Amino acid sequence: MGLGLIVAIRLAGETTLMDWLLAVLLVVLGAAAVRHRFAVRDLEAGRRQEAESFARILQGLSRSISPDAILGAIVEELGSGTDADHIVIVRRRPDARILEATLVNARTGGSTSSTLFPIGDLEDPIAVDVVGSDPVQVPIEAGAGDRRATDLPPSMRPSLAVTAVASTAGGPRRSGRRMPAGSPAADLSQAIQATRDFGLNAIAGRTGHDRETDPDRLVAERIARRARSVFGLRHTLVAPLSTDGGMIGALLISRRTAGAWPAAAHRLLAGASVEASAALSRAYSHRQAEARASTDGLTGLPNRRYFDEFCALLARRRRAEDSVGVLMVDIDRFKALNDTHGHQVGDEVLRAVAGAIVGAVREDDVPARYGGEEFAVLLRNPTLAVAVEVGERVRAAVGQLDLDRFGVDHVSVSVGAAVAEDPDEAIMATIAQADRALYDAKRAGRDRVVAA
Ligand code: GH3
Ligand code: MG
Ligand code: MG
Repeated sequence: MGLGLIVAIRLAGETTLMDWLLAVLLVVLGAAAVRHRFAVRDLEAGRRQEAESFARILQGLSRSISPDAILGAIVEELGSGTDADHIVIVRRRPDARILEATLVNARTGGSTSSTLFPIGDLEDPIAVDVVGSDPVQVPIEAGAGDRRATDLPPSMRPSLAVTAVASTAGGPRRSGRRMPAGSPAADLSQAIQATRDFGLNAIAGRTGHDRETDPDRLVAERIARRARSVFGLRHTLVAPLSTDGGMIGALLISRRTAGAWPAAAHRLLAGASVEASAALSRAYSHRQAEARASTDGLTGLPNRRYFDEFCALLARRRRAEDSVGVLMVDIDRFKALNDTHGHQVGDEVLRAVAGAIVGAVREDDVPARYGGEEFAVLLRNPTLAVAVEVGERVRAAVGQLDLDRFGVDHVSVSVGAAVAEDPDEAIMATIAQADRALYDAKRAGRDRVVAA
């Protein structure tokens, strides 16, 4: 455009200094306009990419109800959408009294390390009434300058030597047995107690001037401090994960290089934390409802519905060399016990018998409350002799129960045992065989184990 003008001026033959300056100015303006157009195009492309990235996150979320799949999709997007080296997901699993922290390599997407944080990290760090406060979804940035946690000498750092097992979820589907009671969290209470003070100490001295700050933000900061300390991270950006019921964890991105995180990283993390919170909340309530539907309320054992589903699942997965055993366990003369001591005592005895059965079988076996005073145990890969041996252990454990506190002298069970060696043999047929053996045990005088 400027060049055309110069040519026109030349042709007119009246070139003055002003004309030249005007022409140069026009050239500069033209170039700036072109540069601006390119910049706008880049920005639009960036935004489009970001929007597409979110669309992919949402797609990933709607595809699956599994929280692991949801977080996997989010981690993938955070890895490709930001220049983070690592991503940390800290979350409380449903019903769990621990926080599980997983460090993921943003480049490979692989989980590099997994550990436990004390659940106290989720508690409101300052004693203020938080009712009605909106959860903050603004990422919180911190770098090496934040020295509160990293300055701690190793001896004062939380001793988080316990490695989380990926399937610590309380649900029957994952743990296979013994759902509500005996949670792995209970075994960890000591380790948790030891680390609990750390979080509280770390925020001591901040309680005065931070009262205005959103509690979710403080909690997220505290989790980020611990994550930096435990995983040796330097420059992190954190966003809280919260549901209607309160905070459930935090999402962090981390990188080695210093300097402020770009606005796009802030936006992406904030969006990801909102979506992750919503999806986890949906998934958790689904899982809890599912766990409730699969659990017998009185004994805490899997119920018949779960047992049947598990059998069906196992039937499809059985390999040629797998055998499956079934014990059917029925309390002897339970009606008389109810009649003599009342229904409530009957319920306590049912609970005690359930506990004895759980204690007598192996981790791999699946005990369930099959009916009123009848229990079933699915045994993995037993011979008939082993099934009978386990049945005898169950019978002995019940017989040794101390029920004095309920005014009950003694209780016994009859057990029927059956094993399907052939993978084509239907498990339901094996259950029926065990049931017939149980009937034989009753007819033979009760308090005994009979093999099919
Ligand atoms: P057997 O030795 O032949 O098995 O005799 P039994 O009395 O145990 O068998 P029966 O089937 O006649 O009675 C079972 C009793 O179990 C009847 C029922 O009231 C009781 N029962 C079933 N479910 C529950 C429960 O949840 N709580 C209590 N307290 N009793 C239950
Ligand atoms: Mg009975
Ligand atoms: Mg019965």
